Amino acid sequence: MSSSPLLDPSVDHALQLIVTGASTEETCATDLAAGPWNFDTVPGYGPGSSMGDVIPTGAPRQGELPASYREAAEPELHERIRAAKAALGERVVVLGHFYQREEVVQHADYVGDSFQLATAAKEHPDAEAIVFCGVHFMAETADLLSGPDQAVILPNLAAGCSMADMASIDQVEECWEQLAEVLGPLDAPDADGLVPVIPVTYMNSSAAIKGFVGRHGGIVCTSSNARTVLEWAFARGRRVLFFPDQHLGRNTAKAMGVPLSEMPLWNPRRPLGGSSAAELQDSRVILWHGFCSVHRRFTVAQIDQARAAHAGVRVIVHPECPMEVVDAADEAGSTDFIRRAIDAATEPTTFAIGTEINLVRRLAAQYPQHEIFCLDPVVCPCSTMYRIHPGYLAWVLEELVAGRTPNRITVTADVADPARVALERMLAARPPVAVG
Ligand code: SF4
Repeated sequence: MSSSPLLDPSVDHALQLIVTGASTEETCATDLAAGPWNFDTVPGYGPGSSMGDVIPTGAPRQGELPASYREAAEPELHERIRAAKAALGERVVVLGHFYQREEVVQHADYVGDSFQLATAAKEHPDAEAIVFCGVHFMAETADLLSGPDQAVILPNLAAGCSMADMASIDQVEECWEQLAEVLGPLDAPDADGLVPVIPVTYMNSSAAIKGFVGRHGGIVCTSSNARTVLEWAFARGRRVLFFPDQHLGRNTAKAMGVPLSEMPLWNPRRPLGGSSAAELQDSRVILWHGFCSVHRRFTVAQIDQARAAHAGVRVIVHPECPMEVVDAADEAGSTDFIRRAIDAATEPTTFAIGTEINLVRRLAAQYPQHEIFCLDPVVCPCSTMYRIHPGYLAWVLEELVAGRTPNRITVTADVADPARVALERMLAARPPVAVG
């Protein structure tokens, strides 16, 4: 840990200072300073960015974490995690998403974005357990890509993703049926060999949605390859149905020259998603009405404020941010793009970053030669990523040592097979080769 409190990457420490009055920083929810087990039996996503989002009925809930983990102090939990990992050795791999708490990330064998982590798990075919410190759809993806005898474990089952939950399989099936009524048979190519619509899902979606996409000639994308994937889709279809994140879809298609007037929004609660048949027929990209509550917090006013307060500041935001924010920023890119951009800066630079605060504070601590701060001045982490506390990590690891396999995430074969097809299409998609 850094000796300077300014460079302490721990969001939890910042929150403890806020609730005790030792810091003048603001938070969106003082409940964040409490143990997440206080919210395991409470409806909703818990405190943090998505606390206002509607959690679907039947979303997985975590059972009670035993008292010995809830009551243990931070140093004891770290010691128990280290001891359990040492006892398990090569039998376990711990993966930590960029947005995880610092207290969890420090025990991870790999740290990265969801797809980097899912592929990292593949490098350990002999590991019996993959402990995924991230959210539910990421653990599902790791299960899709890992061996059949490997158990993927999510330390807290309540770590869902409100954005992924905004597109349920029933809603997407219903949308597909309605589109067929407007656009005709969706698997019939026209004279140019193009089908009416290609479904494209962001990695941040359930395995059921990835399976749907695989069954219907579609493909998965990440925030790093969304443009390449849309080019792949436009080579095969007249239009794209993009879910669940409207902002990634809009920002990517706009950069490719698709006019906003050809990107209607599909609201699953309204007939034809809220558009007319003519608007759907004239569309190029139909955007699902989903969003990330972390990235929706960023505003153009915050960028203006950063520019006014810091001459020469470089503003980099994630493409899950609203279009106006991406347009006002200097650059937009995935978490890995942001990390590499900072790493590549040779001169001391001031960076204002529009992404989840755990990653921003970690980058600020890792690159003390730069001034790095989060565009949003309010401390408000992703609600569900924050549900993974070191107490849950210690619990699952000690359960494994005892020969039990808690919180295993399994994708059934009927979903897994087409979902893998959609992922394989993504891996095979390549940017077009420049000619001349
Ligand atoms: S940061 Fe946004 S997209 Fe990522 S897990 Fe949290 S809610 Fe989901």
